[in-house]
Amino acid sequence: MSPDRSVRAALWSEVDGVLLLRSVATALVRLSEIGNLKTSALPYPEEAQRALNNTVLTCLVLKARPPESLPELVEWAAKRPVDRWPVTLPPDVVPPEALLLDEATHLPTQLCYEWAVDAEDSAARHSEQRYMTVVSQRCREENYPEAYRAFRLLLVRRPVLTHRELSTLPAAADNDLGFLGDLLYDVYQPAPAGYLDRKRQSYTACARCHTLLHPTTVGGLWCEQGRCRDLGTVRHGREYRADDGGGIQLLIRPLRQWVSAPGVLETRLARRLTDVGADVELWPGFGSYSMRVRFPDRATLAIEYKDWASPALLGRRAVPPPPDPPYDRCVWVVPATRLRDHPDFRTVFERYRSSTSLELMTDRELLRTTRQFIGPTGPSPRNAETASAPDGEAMEGLF
Ligand SMILES: [Zn+2]
Repeated sequence: MSPDRSVRAALWSEVDGVLLLRSVATALVRLSEIGNLKTSALPYPEEAQRALNNTVLTCLVLKARPPESLPELVEWAAKRPVDRWPVTLPPDVVPPEALLLDEATHLPTQLCYEWAVDAEDSAARHSEQRYMTVVSQRCREENYPEAYRAFRLLLVRRPVLTHRELSTLPAAADNDLGFLGDLLYDVYQPAPAGYLDRKRQSYTACARCHTLLHPTTVGGLWCEQGRCRDLGTVRHGREYRADDGGGIQLLIRPLRQWVSAPGVLETRLARRLTDVGADVELWPGFGSYSMRVRFPDRATLAIEYKDWASPALLGRRAVPPPPDPPYDRCVWVVPATRLRDHPDFRTVFERYRSSTSLELMTDRELLRTTRQFIGPTGPSPRNAETASAPDGEAMEGLF
């Protein structure tokens, strides 16, 4: 680690605002797992009490009015954008106007999860690692990569199952999930009551990402994925009666956040790269990275698809994946929409990134580059998008 980088790392972990946001985000995620954030009663869970104490202390030091109770801290998280909290933070670490809780449902936002996994002592609990590592190990022991991919695809395509589907899946002849059956019961849990439309006694899935939509206080439905909300109106997908197939099971949130949501983007990008002639392998090496892309006579790329709200927190995690299977270059791909909505995304990522041995580019840039290299001999005709001039940055030196 260079002296400059070690100083930066030390500064990060010593900044009061960083410690505070980690503490508050972790407490909010934990509270959302055990109950309704709007009805927190005394005594508060230890983690929540500690987050409240930290916030009060920080406010007193900065001579700001502190929250007087946990419900007031929850209101802050749902109504006051983080960049307006009375805390001292390194520059640009929170996107403008971003909340830790959704205003209408009081469920943790993606940014809240990103802060929770930035805290090392809670990262494993709130990330996908503890489950996906077990799946990876088991499939590796069985030398069964198809099972790993089948498990991952199930999480991407079906974050909601009926109890009957869950119980019959492992025994079904048309999949490879048999020896992972017990894990399915760990990661699919009965759908929380908060998602139920009590009048209709039904749940509604999002037509875009397939997770359950959450009723709002004003009679609407809300998708936890910012990408779905950014597309405008919520699209209603499949409706499940509460007692369908013995009851509705929902994939746990860390796996929805860190596996299902990026998985939708990963599978779509893989399909598009394949369409233009690239040789693509999804989740190679039992999930070492998102996809391995090979071109005839050119470099082999390890692609990691990263859809993060905070480029600073993403940059702090910028470490190349293990070379299993081996690759020549590593590219972290972010949705082009992130850069459109946050023009400084790349600059902030560069400022905070912990490794310079990987490149950042958008999904659109990667597709354009791939089409350029494969050229008109590829199986798909060029379309209007590919005819436009490619973005110069991040293009040079990729291959
Ligand atoms: Zn959605």
